[in-house]
Amino acid sequence: MVERAFNFSPGPAVLPYEVLEQASRDVVNFQGLGMGLIEVSHRSKPFIAVMDEAEALLRELMGIPENYKVLFLQGGASSQFFMVPMNLLGPGKKATYLNTGTWSKKAIKEAKLFGEVDVAYSSEDSKFVRVPAQNEYTVSADSEYLYLVSNNTIYGTAFPEFPVVDTMLISDMSSDILSRQFDVSRFGLIFAGAQKNLGPAGVTVVVIREDLLDRAPATTPTMLNYKTHAEKGSMFNTPPCFAVYVVGLVLKWLKKIGGVPAIEKINREKAAMLYAKIDESGYYRGHAEPASRSLMNVTFNLATPELEAKFIAEATAIGLNGLKGHRSVGGCRASIYNAFPIEGVVKLVEFMRQFELANPA
Ligand SMILES: *Cc1c(COP(=O)(O)O)cnc(C)c1O
Repeated sequence: MVERAFNFSPGPAVLPYEVLEQASRDVVNFQGLGMGLIEVSHRSKPFIAVMDEAEALLRELMGIPENYKVLFLQGGASSQFFMVPMNLLGPGKKATYLNTGTWSKKAIKEAKLFGEVDVAYSSEDSKFVRVPAQNEYTVSADSEYLYLVSNNTIYGTAFPEFPVVDTMLISDMSSDILSRQFDVSRFGLIFAGAQKNLGPAGVTVVVIREDLLDRAPATTPTMLNYKTHAEKGSMFNTPPCFAVYVVGLVLKWLKKIGGVPAIEKINREKAAMLYAKIDESGYYRGHAEPASRSLMNVTFNLATPELEAKFIAEATAIGLNGLKGHRSVGGCRASIYNAFPIEGVVKLVEFMRQFELANPA
């Protein structure tokens, strides 16, 4: 095995080493065909099997009910910001959004192009340090859906529980899909760009309840209509073959280690170690309010930007990579997705302890 850095990058992000090794072999020669995985037709039997297996594993691991379609789309998670309202809203139709960070803000901007948007809650004034409890907003009865970002990648906050409302939920789960258990049937639509917790960049997974496929206005462009992709098994046009294939390998790995219940337990352990270090020290200041803390992205500050720069530089020098916070928050961010090994968290906590001793505030 090559020497591996501990990769805290927010995305694209760390993948299981065995997945990388398998992919590197299959890119050259897939299943002994004498052709690489990225050279075979997407209509060929071996590749159709890749698509089918990826979908079957996702259904099994997430517990996706029969009346939902799984789509593998392109255009990034960002294209879902407009595809959702393009397909589900229209003049005179309303949707409710919870504004908990950069990604919800972008989604709200797009939704306004298609219908009426009610922003029922925003934590923008407090630098997005929290997500709302359910009694902090109301969803009007005529809303088509309630939209939320389950995990706010940049600010390090997450919904500890999903709202229990009569309105259908729609969620951007790009940075925490498959990190914890939840009931898919409470959602009309879930989407996730793969490059955080699922695989490489290039594919966006969409899970959509079947009855929603008929809501798009007749003017919806073919490629932007969910129904097109649902009817063709995500093969209306050439799918992002390589990305879907790697997602399949990641799902196989996840199943092998015990699926979502097993990884959730590890994710909680990893996050708890870092938050415990932050809470005990006073030297490190967590960005997120404790009740809104993310299991995937741990955001924190030191006393000054200079100290933060020194912390990040020294961490990088000992193989702790990608700890620089997003430019809109500053400070540090440790992204500890499913594939991030617990040993890396242990090493970071130890480094935090030493750095504090060596650099008294
Ligand atoms: C990264 C991210 C996005 C944007 O993903 P792209 O695939 O780059 O468009 C959207 N939502 C969340 C929650 C993210 O973390």
